[in-house]
Amino acid sequence: MRTSARRFDAVIVGGGHNGLTCAAYLAAAGLSVCIAERRAVVGGAAVTEQFHPGFRNSTASYTVSLLDPQVIRDLRLAEHGLVVRERPISNFLPLPDGYLKVGGGLAATQAEVAKFSRSDADALPAYYAMLERVAEVLRGLLGATPPNFGAGAANDIAAVVDVVKAAKGFRALSLPERRDLLDLFTKSAGEILDAWFDSAPIKAAFGFDAVVGNFASPYTPGSAYVLLHHVFGEVNGKRGQWGHAIGGMGAITQAMAAECEARGVVIRTAAPIARVLVKAGRAAGVELEDGEVIEAKRVVANVNPKLLFDKLVPPEHVPEDFRRRMRNYRCGSGTFRMNVALSALPSFVALPGTAPMQHHMSGIIMAPSLAYMERAYFDARTHGWSREPIVEMLIPSTVDDSLAPKGRHVASLFCQHVHPDLPLVLPGRTWDDARDEVADLMIATVEKFAPGFGASVLARRVLSPLDLEREFGLTGGDIFHGALALDQLFSSRPVLGHADYRMPLKGLYLCGAGAHPGGGVTGIPGRNAAREIVKDVRRRRH
Ligand SMILES: Cc1cc2nc3c(=O)[nH]c(=O)nc-3n(C[C@H](O)[C@H](O)[C@H](O)COP(=O)(O)OP(=O)(O)OC[C@H]3O[C@@H](n4cnc5c(N)ncnc54)[C@H](O)[C@@H]3O)c2cc1C
Repeated sequence: MRTSARRFDAVIVGGGHNGLTCAAYLAAAGLSVCIAERRAVVGGAAVTEQFHPGFRNSTASYTVSLLDPQVIRDLRLAEHGLVVRERPISNFLPLPDGYLKVGGGLAATQAEVAKFSRSDADALPAYYAMLERVAEVLRGLLGATPPNFGAGAANDIAAVVDVVKAAKGFRALSLPERRDLLDLFTKSAGEILDAWFDSAPIKAAFGFDAVVGNFASPYTPGSAYVLLHHVFGEVNGKRGQWGHAIGGMGAITQAMAAECEARGVVIRTAAPIARVLVKAGRAAGVELEDGEVIEAKRVVANVNPKLLFDKLVPPEHVPEDFRRRMRNYRCGSGTFRMNVALSALPSFVALPGTAPMQHHMSGIIMAPSLAYMERAYFDARTHGWSREPIVEMLIPSTVDDSLAPKGRHVASLFCQHVHPDLPLVLPGRTWDDARDEVADLMIATVEKFAPGFGASVLARRVLSPLDLEREFGLTGGDIFHGALALDQLFSSRPVLGHADYRMPLKGLYLCGAGAHPGGGVTGIPGRNAAREIVKDVRRRRH
C-alpha cells in the first residue's frame, strides 16, 4: 500500500461535472482538494470523445440547458472557452402525415400547432405561462439545501424553518397556480397534457421530456415532474431554451477542469477508487484499485449513491436501515445511446432535403404520440426493448464544424425505452448480446422517417444501459443517478434524513446527481454540497 505524500482537506470520488464544480468551490474557499477519476478523462457523462477517425461527439449527455448560470459565471466557463449555441427551433417531429416544428417564437409555434388544432394553438400561451410559473418556484428550490427532515429533533426544527424559507416562491402563487404546481409534482404528464391539448403531435413534443431517462409511461403518475425538470433551464439568458456546447459537452467539463486547476485542485485521471477508508469512525481518504492511498479529512462522492454504498463504503460503517434503503433506491433508465458518423444529412419524407435546414439543427423527435410512448414502455417491460422505440436525434455538426470532416456529420441518437435489466425479462440474454440487434432497430426506426439514413451511417458507437453502467458507473444506466420521483426528490434525495449532502458516515458527503436537485448537467448538487462542506469546516463538525 502506497500513501500519497499529501493529505488533502477533501478528496472527491469521481470527476464528473458535479465533482469538478464542487472541487472548484471548495478550492475557492481555501481547501486543498484532490479529484480521483476512474476514466482517462474527466467529465463523467458530460464528455466529448472521438468514436471514429475524424468524428467526435458528446458520448452520453448531448445538449445543454440546465447548467446553472451562476456556475457558468463562478467557474468562468466562458473565459475558459465555453460557447453555447441556441437551437434555431427546439424540436421537429416528423409524422406519418406531415410534421410539427416547435420553437422559434410563440407565433411560429402557434402557426405550426394550428395545422393540427386551432384550439391547441390558442392554448399554447397559457400553457407556457403556467409551466414557467411553476418552473420559477422550482428554480427557487434548486440552489437551496433541502430541509433535512428526520435527521434528529433539533434538525427537524431547523428543517421547518428551511421549509418556510423554501416556500417563499410557493406563497407568491395564486390558488390556481398552487393547483398547477401540485399537478406537476404528482400527476402524469399525459393527464396534464390531455387536459390542455387535443392533437397528438404537440402532446408528443412536450411529453417526450417526461420519458427522457425515466423508465415509465407518460401516463405514469409523477412523470409530469420529469417534464418540469427539463424546462427549468436556459441558454444564454433565454429561458426554456436548449443549446449546443461548441466542441460537445466535453467543452463544459474541460472548462471546469481548467478552472479547478487554476485554483490548485489536483486532478488524477485513470485513478479508480476501490474503497473509502474509515478511521476512528470517520471517512479519512480513499484507496485506489492499485492500492495507493489518498488521505483526506473529508471524502466527497460524485458517484451514484447506490454504487457508493454497494461497492465503495465498507458496510459495517453504515446503519443497516440506510443500507437497505440504498439497496432499494430506484435506479434504472430505459435509455440506449448511440453516436453515428454520417456521410450526409438525413432527408425526411415529411420535409425532404439534405442541405442543412432549421429542423436538422433541432431535437428531432421520432415518436408521434403519447400513446406510442406508452406502448414503447410496456413493450420494453415485457419484451426487453420497445420494437417501436422513441428516438430523439440531434445532429450537432450542423452548428459545430469541429466534430466531423467537411461535408460529413455526427448524430446523437437518444433512444427510449429499453429495459435497464435485460436478463430480468429475457432470461439468458444480456445487453452484450442484444446490443447490436437493438442498435440496428434504432437505425431502422430513423430510416422509416428518413429513407436512406441507414446507408449514410459510416460508423457507430453504441451504449446499452449496461455499457452506461460499466463506462460511467451509472447504475442501471440511470442518467439521473436515481429516479426523479417524489419519494427520491428534495428532502428525500437520496434518502430522508440525508438530503443535506452529509452521508451517514462522518466526513462523507454526496455531491453528484444522486443529491438534490438531481440529474442533468446543472452543477447544482456540486455547488450546494461545497457550501455545506465549507460550513462544516468552519464550524468543525461532521
Ligand atoms: C445517455 C445520457 C444522456 C444524457 N443527456 C443529457 C443531456 O442532454 N443534458 C443534460 O443536462 N443531462 C443529460 N444527461 C444527464 C447528465 O449527463 C447526468 O445527470 C450528469 O452528467 C451527472 O453528473 P455527475 O457529475 O453528478 O455524475 P457523473 O457524470 O456520472 O460522474 C461521476 C463520475 O464518477 C466516476 N466514477 C465512477 N466510479 C468511480 C470510482 N470507483 N472511482 C473513481 N471515479 C469513479 C465516473 O467515471 C464519472 O466520471 C444524460 C445522461 C446520459 C447517461
